[in-house]
Amino acid sequence: MARLGDLVVPLACAGCGARGVVLCPGCRALLGDPWRCERGAPRLDRTDGLPPLPVWALAALRGPVHGLVVAWKDGGRRDVDAALAASMLAAGETLAVALREVTCRVDVVPVPSSPRSTLRRGCVPVVGLAAALSAGLRASGVGARPDARVLRRRLGVRDQAGLGRDARGHNLAGALVARPTESDVPVLVVDDVLTTGATLAAVHDTLARAGRSVLGAVVLAATPLAPGTLAPAFPSCPGT
Ligand SMILES: [Zn+2]
Repeated sequence: MARLGDLVVPLACAGCGARGVVLCPGCRALLGDPWRCERGAPRLDRTDGLPPLPVWALAALRGPVHGLVVAWKDGGRRDVDAALAASMLAAGETLAVALREVTCRVDVVPVPSSPRSTLRRGCVPVVGLAAALSAGLRASGVGARPDARVLRRRLGVRDQAGLGRDARGHNLAGALVARPTESDVPVLVVDDVLTTGATLAAVHDTLARAGRSVLGAVVLAATPLAPGTLAPAFPSCPGT
């Protein structure tokens, strides 16, 4: 007969699998100071000569960080929410220094998940990241407010899974809706990962069409790129 202890799934690091911890110190340390990562995302390139949307990442999307993100998003590891939120809060405190140069207020907008993903997960994990980033920004003097109602996904749009790169971009662009608003508060977008940039490009276009000024985005992790591409400042913000 199995003992009770054998029936309990042993606690393991969501990143590397080390026994006995939710997130081991080594994996936790991989989520560090935010760095500019948009140059590694080909779909963020603009054809009008303007620079791509600035995106900051806390980690490179590889090794244990990749495992951590998958476990957190799709493996039901809600027990790492607090650690990820703490890292996002610290990132907000860091980014506030540059953000204060261009604005004193910002709306922090999480990228919405598809209705199917939300149903499967029972929550939208990135909403917690947006709240934590906002708290960090406020702690360092920026009037930040998380607002998950700014963007939503249309119902009845095809799931992204199984679509090619170009089809994903077109599909997503048609799937997002921005809430009409008269607000002139600029937006900082929050998402879990940056890979090709197709999602953030669609988010940026949707918000811009709704008249929102998008300062940039913050993600947990991004596809690694060559070092030396850091740019510390936010672009100038129209109207502030
Ligand atoms: Zn670990």
